[in-house]
Amino acid sequence: MKDLSKLREDFPVLSRRRNGKPLIYFDNAATTLKPRQVIDAVKSYYENCSANVHRGVYELSQEATDLYEDSRSRIADFIGCKSNELVFVRNTTEGINLVAYGIKWIPGDEVISTVMEHHSNMIPWQIASKRFGVELKYAGVKQDGQLDLDELEQLVTDRTRLIAVCHVSNVLGTINDVKRIARIAHDHGALLLVDAAQSVPHMPINVKELDCDFLAFSGHKLLGPTGIGCLYIREGVEEELEPPFGGGEMISHVELYSYRLNDMPWRFEPGTPNIAGAIGLATAVDYLKSIGMESIREHEKQLTARAIEILKELDGIEVYGPTDPEKRCGLVAFNLKGVSGELIAALLDEFENIAVRSGFHCAQPLHKVFGAQSSVRASFYLYNTLDELEVFKRGLERIKNELGK
Ligand code: PLP
Repeated sequence: MKDLSKLREDFPVLSRRRNGKPLIYFDNAATTLKPRQVIDAVKSYYENCSANVHRGVYELSQEATDLYEDSRSRIADFIGCKSNELVFVRNTTEGINLVAYGIKWIPGDEVISTVMEHHSNMIPWQIASKRFGVELKYAGVKQDGQLDLDELEQLVTDRTRLIAVCHVSNVLGTINDVKRIARIAHDHGALLLVDAAQSVPHMPINVKELDCDFLAFSGHKLLGPTGIGCLYIREGVEEELEPPFGGGEMISHVELYSYRLNDMPWRFEPGTPNIAGAIGLATAVDYLKSIGMESIREHEKQLTARAIEILKELDGIEVYGPTDPEKRCGLVAFNLKGVSGELIAALLDEFENIAVRSGFHCAQPLHKVFGAQSSVRASFYLYNTLDELEVFKRGLERIKNELGK
């Protein structure tokens, strides 16, 4: 990454200090910091435009519509799809729920998910199972943190309607072989949904290369505002869905007892959308593009490799997920034997002003597989540095000393 210190100046929150110590923000898998450019874009919409979209012929409204639709096409380009394949939603969770509630299920249809999923890619299928009679099955994860693809393949039958997997695990960091899973799904006439909450922010993504049918991600995890996310729906696949929510914008013609659906993507965007959020997200995407997703991936690989090295050097620490940085993304979950994750996170905060996450990171069943109640997770992004990792090391060493571990 070129000129990291200059890049860091774009993020106002990074100037926070406590007791003279700068903030070290290692909770990027939960949400990321926002650069000034994104904050300014959101502010500019409210200051200079603020009108609703698709509703007026007057200048301000047309300007708002242009800003909103132009944002959509820039984001669509970022993941390699067409504008009409990109639906704005609130976040990954809503994108997945839209599919779970939208598919015209036939009782007995099967959904296959995996035990490494975030609850966002588990609960919607459990609800679909209760409501629509869908049968839910899970593929397991191996001790090295890799998805058991052979098991997944064996679970598929002619009744399988959908396979729903994360691209990157938010606990193990594992990067799943989505292309292979797409082949497995399509060979059996099933659809593939990818939870890309932890991949779109961190690596180059092209939905056509991945060959998935749905892909969901959240804006706030890639420098964008909260409350805006995207669901890619492959052209033609929309016919498998009935919009789960109705109202304005999603229809092209209405009678008292009937309606005609609007074209894609608006048929899945009822009501007034998050206009400022879409504009902010497109600005975030432009920011990431200007740095280059390949460079960001390389930078995070370096950080992850060093983080794993540090954790391995310290006695009594268990690291979860693949050890090869090529096979994982920029986050590391770990535990120190006999010490709760919450205590480690609190002490890292107190000693070194380091923000890490503790708990089960919305992946309770996965923690059970590894026999852990919870874990500590350090997750990195483009503005993190190797120097920050040395402070992290110092913090962990002090914790071990003070706790006699
Ligand atoms: N899926 C994964 C893999 C995640 O890591 C997260 C958030 O941490 C989500 C889904 C849910 O994202 P959101 O809360 O933005 O909907």
